[in-house]
Amino acid sequence: MRFPLIFLLFISSPAWAAQGQTLQDGIDLLHQGKFKEALPLITAIAEERPQDGNTQMALGYVLLRSGDYQRAGKVLRAALTTIGERSEIHRLLAEIAAQQGDFPAALEEIDKALRLAPQDNEVLAYKEKLTKEWQIEEKMDKNYGGNFTVTFEGGGDELGNSALAALEDAYVDLGSRFQLWPRQKTEVILYGNRDFKHLTNAPDWSGGLYDGKIRIPVGGLSGMNENLRRILYHEYAHVLIRALARDHVPLWLNEGLAQWAAGETTVHFEQRLTTGETPLPFSRFEKSFAGLSASEVSLAYGQSLSLTNFLIEYFGEAQILEVLHRLGSGMNFPIAAAEILAPWGNNFDGSVQAWQETLPTSETAPPLLNR
Ligand SMILES: [Zn+2]
Repeated sequence: MRFPLIFLLFISSPAWAAQGQTLQDGIDLLHQGKFKEALPLITAIAEERPQDGNTQMALGYVLLRSGDYQRAGKVLRAALTTIGERSEIHRLLAEIAAQQGDFPAALEEIDKALRLAPQDNEVLAYKEKLTKEWQIEEKMDKNYGGNFTVTFEGGGDELGNSALAALEDAYVDLGSRFQLWPRQKTEVILYGNRDFKHLTNAPDWSGGLYDGKIRIPVGGLSGMNENLRRILYHEYAHVLIRALARDHVPLWLNEGLAQWAAGETTVHFEQRLTTGETPLPFSRFEKSFAGLSASEVSLAYGQSLSLTNFLIEYFGEAQILEVLHRLGSGMNFPIAAAEILAPWGNNFDGSVQAWQETLPTSETAPPLLNR
């Protein structure tokens, strides 16, 4: 989902005297998605000007995008008392409540936003989405753990408890792999298959997704199994990757790392290569798998994991993490990759080429198949 930033564009820019930087500089960083750089700058400006409502609003926005919902809510409510009722602020407060699973509070905020801006289509669409989501979640059960809340249907406590236990394992295991242990609870919703489709419009091959909440279709499952455990690890890896790299990570690396974190193998992918198939050009799924057939999607996942494994083996986990950190501070992938993942002529394509040379083909298959 994209978020309205436009309202922040017209804010007057008080100078942040100490560094000569202004609120507008912070807002420019927000527009570029450089939240990690924007946060300290806007925080410093807000500390100097605690009574400036526009600065408070920008601070609330960047805190929300950084996943610090509690502080974001506090700051935005303070902004309401400083600058008065603003539709945009109620819209952000609605999002904070929704991220924490509090639909009644979220809808209350949305209604306040709509009273101030009744024609705002983006807010109307958001209200419709929240209402749909709430209708489904209302009839479900909830289990609360230390780092996750699991909402589920059917299966009694067994499904909720075992999912929570697996997620807490993932919190520890993947936390040490990605060096990140979020303080914010992650919301996880286990849907019946029909509700999942109705709500997300996800394609048939989708085993789950992360859009700020982890959503997984479990279709009548009553307890844990290996497949669900893998999906939980996969989706929680997306939570950590998003927290580190924001939206700047290429799809193949995002999916490659999630599969790596879930312990997936490339056996099936390599088998396909031995029957004469070749990897797809990565440019065919730069941002999404839309336009690929189900069989191509499976190939795309396989090659994403294969290339990711190759890079991890060659450069080490720490370097891959470094790439994610750089993406998170706003660097684009070609530059980050050229700096860290490209010993072959300072060009990431060289690394992809080197990976391709390790792949089995219909002639070289046998030795690589059992890798
Ligand atoms: Zn994924």
